[in-house]
Amino acid sequence: MRWTAFMAVLAMATTGASRATAADSVSNVVLAVHGGAGVIDRDKLSAEREKEIRATLDAALAAGEAVLNKPDGTSLDAVEAAVRVLEDSPLFNAGKGAAFTREGTNEMDASIMDGRTRAAGAVGFVTTIKNPISAARAVMEKSGHVLMVGDGAEAFAEDAGCEIVDPKYFWTERRWKSLQEALEEEKKKRDEQQSSGLGNRDAENLALHLRDAEARCGTVGAVALDRGGNLAAATSTGGLTLKRHGRLGDTPIVGAGTFADNKSCAVSGTGQGEFFIRSVAAYDIAALVEYKGLAVADAAREVVHKKIKSAGGEAGVIALDAKGNHAAPFNTNGLYRGYVTKDGKRHVAIYEE
Ligand code: ASP
Repeated sequence: MRWTAFMAVLAMATTGASRATAADSVSNVVLAVHGGAGVIDRDKLSAEREKEIRATLDAALAAGEAVLNKPDGTSLDAVEAAVRVLEDSPLFNAGKGAAFTREGTNEMDASIMDGRTRAAGAVGFVTTIKNPISAARAVMEKSGHVLMVGDGAEAFAEDAGCEIVDPKYFWTERRWKSLQEALEEEKKKRDEQQSSGLGNRDAENLALHLRDAEARCGTVGAVALDRGGNLAAATSTGGLTLKRHGRLGDTPIVGAGTFADNKSCAVSGTGQGEFFIRSVAAYDIAALVEYKGLAVADAAREVVHKKIKSAGGEAGVIALDAKGNHAAPFNTNGLYRGYVTKDGKRHVAIYEE
C-alpha cells in the first residue's frame, strides 16, 4: 500500500470518521446559504419543485454576493439580503411559507450576529413581521437588547421601519396541508397507542418526530465573509409544524441556532431545535475551533454527526471561518444549501453531491 493511502486509512481508523475531511470542506468561500435539513426523498420531490428550490437558493446567493461585491459591502448586509430572498419565497419555512403551529398560527423566529463585534439580535414568536431577519437586525442595532418576542417585538419592529403584514400573508396551502396531515397522524398514533399505555404526550412527540419531514424542512440561513475579514450569520424559521403555540426553537437563541465570531467561525443551523438548544450547537462548533484549534469542517461534523446525532437529533449546519473555509454537514439525507466562492462561482446542492 502506498504511504499516502496507508495514512488516509490510518486517519480514518483512528478518528472513526466514515468520510474524508477534505471532501467536506470547501475553501475560498465568501457566502453560504441553507434552506433547511430533513428527510428529502428524491421520489417525493418533483423535478419542477427541485428546480424552483435550486433557483431560489441561487437567487439568495446572488443577492448576498451583490452586497459583498460593493466596495463597502458588509457580511452583515449580505446575510440579511440573502435570508430576505428565502423568507420572501413560499418554498421555504421562513417568512412567507412558514410552518403552522398545532393551533394553525404562523409564529416565526430569527436571529443575526456580527462576528466583528459579537453584537447579536433576535426575535421570537412574531406573527406580523414580513421579514423577521430585518427585525432581528433592528433589535441588534436599535433596541439595546438581544432578544425580543411577541407583540413587543412586533411593535418595536414597526417603529424601527420593518414592514408589517396581516398574518394571512404567511399562509400557504402546502404548509396548511402538512399541518392537517400531521394532526391526522397524531390522532392515529394516539388511538394506536392507547392500548400500549403511552399517554398523549408520547403520541404528540412521536408524531412530531415521525411525520413527513420534507414538509417540516425549510428553515433558512446564511453565513458570510466580507473584504474586511468580518464574518456574520443569520437564521430565520417558522419552526416545526405542529409545534405548540408559544414554543421557541433554537433559531432565535444566539449560540444555539446562530453564532458568529471572527476569532472562530460563523454558523447557521437547521434541524430539531430542542437538540440544538441543549447542545448549544452553533457556539459549540465555534468553541471547538477557538479553544481546540479544530478546522471548521471537523468542528461542525463533530457536533452534527456525533453530538446531536447520538442524542437522537436531526441536524444540518453551514459554517464558515475568517479564511473562507466552509463546511455544510448534515445527518439527514438532505440539506438545501449553496455557496459562492471569492471568484464568483456559485454552487447549489440538496443531497450528498
Ligand atoms: N430549527 C428549527 C426549529 O426547531 C426548525 C428547522 O430548522 O427545521 O425551530
